[in-house]
Amino acid sequence: MNAEKDLLQKIESQLLIDGQWRASSDGNTLPVRDPATGEILKEISSASVQDGIDAVEAADRAFPAWAATPPRVRADILRRAFDLVQERKEDFALLMTIEMGKPLAEARGEVAYGAEFLRWFSEEAVRISGRYGSNPEGTGRMIVTKHPVGPAFLITPWNFPLAMGTRKIAPALAAGCTVVVKPAALTPLTTIYLAQTLEEAGVPAGVVNIIPTDHSVDVSAAIIDHPALRKVSFTGSTPVGQQLLKQAANGVLRTSMELGGNAPFLVFEDADLDDAVEGAIQAKFRNIGQACTAANRFIVARPLVDEFVEKVTERVREMRVGRGTDEGVVIGPLIDHRAVEKTVALVADATARGATLKIGGVAIPGPGSFIEPTVISNVPAGSDILKEEIFGPVLAVVPFDTEEDAVALANSTEYGLVSYAYTRDFARAQRLIESIQTGMMGLNVGVVSNAAAPFGGWKMSGLGREGGPEGIEEYLQTKYTLSPNPFV
Ligand code: NAD
Repeated sequence: MNAEKDLLQKIESQLLIDGQWRASSDGNTLPVRDPATGEILKEISSASVQDGIDAVEAADRAFPAWAATPPRVRADILRRAFDLVQERKEDFALLMTIEMGKPLAEARGEVAYGAEFLRWFSEEAVRISGRYGSNPEGTGRMIVTKHPVGPAFLITPWNFPLAMGTRKIAPALAAGCTVVVKPAALTPLTTIYLAQTLEEAGVPAGVVNIIPTDHSVDVSAAIIDHPALRKVSFTGSTPVGQQLLKQAANGVLRTSMELGGNAPFLVFEDADLDDAVEGAIQAKFRNIGQACTAANRFIVARPLVDEFVEKVTERVREMRVGRGTDEGVVIGPLIDHRAVEKTVALVADATARGATLKIGGVAIPGPGSFIEPTVISNVPAGSDILKEEIFGPVLAVVPFDTEEDAVALANSTEYGLVSYAYTRDFARAQRLIESIQTGMMGLNVGVVSNAAAPFGGWKMSGLGREGGPEGIEEYLQTKYTLSPNPFV
């Protein structure tokens, strides 16, 4: 507990605007709670509309100098930030565990993943390029150059407090953009600590501004309406993303939207069943089921269903539930009590329609917002759990008879973020790559995230990509210049 107190002492409790840590203009604060105990960890400043405007204006003032900073200098700052996050990895991991609830081992995994965006985009910062060539008529020279889009507003969710921040901040800074970051009010401490780390790495005043707030709607609207803003990047739920897209239309802003998912996890008869079970456990229970990439619907070949369900149920029986800091815990608390109620209701709806409850399904009495990890099988069509993002540790199994049926089931959702498929038949795998409507696919693997890969969704799961060479393009705009052929 002393390590936790010492760590919390190190975290700033104010807003970062224009290089100054300062209280909110109206003096409001918000409490950050430990979801495992319900206790307040720290009280921090909650930004007002005026603070939001100040932050975007600071980002606007800092933009010309940052955009003109040599790419190598921007790269070196990001690389230093990567090194500092590595040095502080235990602090970052513990902070995420206590404010968000994930087990410590998983928090360490997120630090490695989240830090990687700083390193990857430090490497991409020096590779921004354009093209030069003749027009087809031969009368002119076409010059294509890339430019940072300008001040960007980055809104992040609570489920991956470090990685969702670095996945946006690193490419923005690498491209030469300045940013205003609004972390989720439930988990702002990791973002604040990241901002402290970025300052120490040499990020100049005004380039990164951090404004946690419990008035998201008003503060975000004022920032998006500000004429200096050029870009909105959002990770969160689809309904909020749709709202932000409408607001961004007024200023014709560039947008990136990483929204909700409803991932199918297909297990074909020719799959290696033990591999599929291992992948299923990762794809479902990582982050206590609270990942946009979490497998939501396990679509399993009918002859394998009983064995698959028995094996995953055995694994779930061994899972230890508790505070993420406790030894051996693999299932921490859900983010809040509302999330527990919603998850229990989804299970109850499915069982009322005839699904079989194999294990779990009930809330664990507080303090803290815990639920038992759960397996349900033979979930009937029409159940809410097949349509909605579960965002909890519930593994729901649906049988299928033919490959055609499996693909149709997989695609029967408005979402299209990620899918998983287990098969040893290469021709089938090729057919799946071409027929499943998702932006990402795990083929015989249960986790796909990687800083070097283009993360993002199809359909109502979003617009744009984060990570990979594509990630920096989201923060660049293109200029085409025509000049005469110098030889005629
Ligand atoms: P959320 O949409 O409720 O909130 C996300 C962020 O938006 C938070 O910072 C919140 O404070 C803010 N917000 C909420 N309403 C707003 C408004 N009207 N205007 C401006 N900001 C607003 O989502 P959440 O519950 O924090 O996160 C869970 C959701 O995020 C899930 O749907 C999940 O699938 C999605 N998610 C997607 C990805 C991805 O990369 N596609 C990654 C992680 C999470």
